[in-house]
Amino acid sequence: MPERFLTIIDSRRDALLDDLRLHVGTPTGGFHTPGLDRTRALLTDRLRRLGASIDLVPGDPKPDWLFGVSPNSPIPPTAVCRGPAGIGPPILLAGHLDTVHDPAGPFRELTLAPDGATATGPGCVDMKGGLVILVAALEALAEAGVMPNWTVVFNSDEETGSYHSEAVLRAEARRAAGGVGLAVEPALPDGSLAVERLGTGQFRIDARGRAAHVGRDFASGVSAVTALARALVTIGDLPDLTRDKIINVGPVEGGIATNVVPDRASAWGNVRFPSRQIADELQRDLVALERPGPASVHVRTSFNRPAKPQTPETLRLAALARHAAETLGQRLPFAKTGGVCDGNILQSEGLPTIDTLGVRGGGLHTPQEWIEIPSLVERCQLLALLMARIAAGAWT
Ligand SMILES: [Zn+2]
Repeated sequence: MPERFLTIIDSRRDALLDDLRLHVGTPTGGFHTPGLDRTRALLTDRLRRLGASIDLVPGDPKPDWLFGVSPNSPIPPTAVCRGPAGIGPPILLAGHLDTVHDPAGPFRELTLAPDGATATGPGCVDMKGGLVILVAALEALAEAGVMPNWTVVFNSDEETGSYHSEAVLRAEARRAAGGVGLAVEPALPDGSLAVERLGTGQFRIDARGRAAHVGRDFASGVSAVTALARALVTIGDLPDLTRDKIINVGPVEGGIATNVVPDRASAWGNVRFPSRQIADELQRDLVALERPGPASVHVRTSFNRPAKPQTPETLRLAALARHAAETLGQRLPFAKTGGVCDGNILQSEGLPTIDTLGVRGGGLHTPQEWIEIPSLVERCQLLALLMARIAAGAWT
């Protein structure tokens, strides 16, 4: 006799697809405020109907030296939706409303393949599908009288580093101490659950020299481009893939004309690391590039997402998820990824977190992003069963 909430979810196959169509058709890339506001309102209204209290927490600013940051970019709020009194340990659910897709681009809606097994659409797996199943799972549980102790956080800037929402995510992770974190990022290829993630950080290098006319006064010039280039060559030797120590440079800019010795040059880059130790090593490597004038080099860093190493607690939570999957006749292999997400932030506050409980598909961040339609029901059932078991004492 299947749990009643599983039957409810199964009966909502069409509603899940309709909901996905609605959310995929509402653009939330590029800090598109109307789309983000609408999506947030649609989702939080449904949670409010389940008895949740909704708080919109204003976002924090992000460092203005990061690449692509415009001082005029809107700073979206983060919605914290606290469920009605429930039983069992706290369950913190995290979902991001934003996508990477251009709201004015041609890729705008959900398009079903002729066989109906898959569909393409902006954000369909990353992570509108995850948002749809998150809300549907909570609704089905409530309808079946199962009351986990849940809080949902919807942020709107995960794809750009969660700078605006990091403080809220951290605060909610601490508040959920003793419980678990569940994020509905898309499953890895073949449906795997990520149990280990690298961390990531941003950096910027600014070189300053002295401008001079190349023909009349070359000797008094000091090239910032040359100073920057020396630093970049040093960086080229830093990656060590045997230890997952990764450092990438780009974009790079410098100079204003070919007949002027450039007095300014800058480069931006990204690091990835499996542990605090390698993060510290990268930090030291970058700081060691600094030089005083006349050809000065200045480095700024922001290691915004800590590594998410495999821990005994994460593995225990992953095993619970796998057991729930097997009950449903699904497979749930474990894997490791270099990608980062808000799960990194939640777990760094001590909250055991698994973060690829969303739907299956592929082509993330591309105009071919696609979803396996049956995964809407399957992964919704998995999420609901996992929460029901945690509420029933499987985690304590
Ligand atoms: Zn995502």
